[in-house]
Amino acid sequence: MINETRLRDLLLALCSIDSESREEREVAQHLKRVMEAMGAQVEIDGAGEAVGGNTGNVICRFPATSPDAPPIFLAAHMDTVVPGKGVSPILDGNIIRSNGKTVLGGDDKSGCAIIAEVCQVMTEQNLPHGGIEAVFTICEEVGLLGAKYLDITKLKSKYGLVLDSDDIGFLFTQAPASDKMKWTVYGLEAHAAMAPEQGISAIKIAGEAIAKMTLGRVDGETVANIGSIHGGGPDNVVPNRVTITAEARSLKLDKLDAQTRHMDECFREAAAKYEVSIDGVKKTARVETEIHREYDQMNVSADSTIVKLVLEAARNLHHKVETLSMMGGCDANALNKKGLECANLGTGMRAIHTVNEWLDLRDLNKSASIVLEIVRLNGLVKV
Ligand SMILES: [Zn+2]
Repeated sequence: MINETRLRDLLLALCSIDSESREEREVAQHLKRVMEAMGAQVEIDGAGEAVGGNTGNVICRFPATSPDAPPIFLAAHMDTVVPGKGVSPILDGNIIRSNGKTVLGGDDKSGCAIIAEVCQVMTEQNLPHGGIEAVFTICEEVGLLGAKYLDITKLKSKYGLVLDSDDIGFLFTQAPASDKMKWTVYGLEAHAAMAPEQGISAIKIAGEAIAKMTLGRVDGETVANIGSIHGGGPDNVVPNRVTITAEARSLKLDKLDAQTRHMDECFREAAAKYEVSIDGVKKTARVETEIHREYDQMNVSADSTIVKLVLEAARNLHHKVETLSMMGGCDANALNKKGLECANLGTGMRAIHTVNEWLDLRDLNKSASIVLEIVRLNGLVKV
């Protein structure tokens, strides 16, 4: 029942509209027009103002036609990563690819297009359904900001589906929590040749701290990475300041806390070893730490309504979907944290966050058929 031509054309249209994070207005307006044309009540919320973007999240509602069925939401994000300016999708048989200069933006225009097509089929076929709430978010790629600022009192649904991953054979039900860290190490400036003993090298402290750290794949559920080091100056000056940024992720909160603590302690221990005495005055190195929880973990039970619906829908279509954990965060992390139970289903997007991004339309169509079946089955549920 999916109209494959219409779905493809909407995806091409959405990809052709640039929408790097905080600049999603044009895509938002396009989706608003598409959804209103099929009878949705559409609202754009205030998340854009909260995060310094040029539009908010687009929330579209279709009232229930099957009064006993519970409402369900479908969510995808409108923003893309950089380089996302001047996107010009190329259609080559069943494949849509970027022109090699930008991302395609199938992440996550594919999710947006699937949601619109499913709503279109539900309404034009008069299939009985509970309330359907389509949510197109902003700023997913820069910290799930649209989902974090989504006012969930605007939604009636208690569960739903996020369409924002690649392989259509996987339903992600678990994802890590993530901490972002920043350390500024303060040493003591001195002439590196005339008075090196009067200096404390911030770079040396940072080097020692990092050398002691467990990084990379810490265990099967935990990873950590130093992303950047900035600091220092002329070669003849003992550097008095360096800034290091890092992240850690884990599927288990206690493991994430332990990893973050471990990384911070490495800096503190390294800094504590350094002090100099100048004219009888003791000078010590010090470290300033900033840690914030970038996002919380997602852990949706196999018994949850949404997981059961997805697996049943896939079975009905003779398609195999497996539940799995991922090591990346997505809007589903933020929405689950707000009490909206949801998992993340693949759309067919490939090689995302690269200029080689592509998508196979056969996967896109299959994913849309599964989502349609999910919404149809949900319309048969009696509460
Ligand atoms: Zn995405």
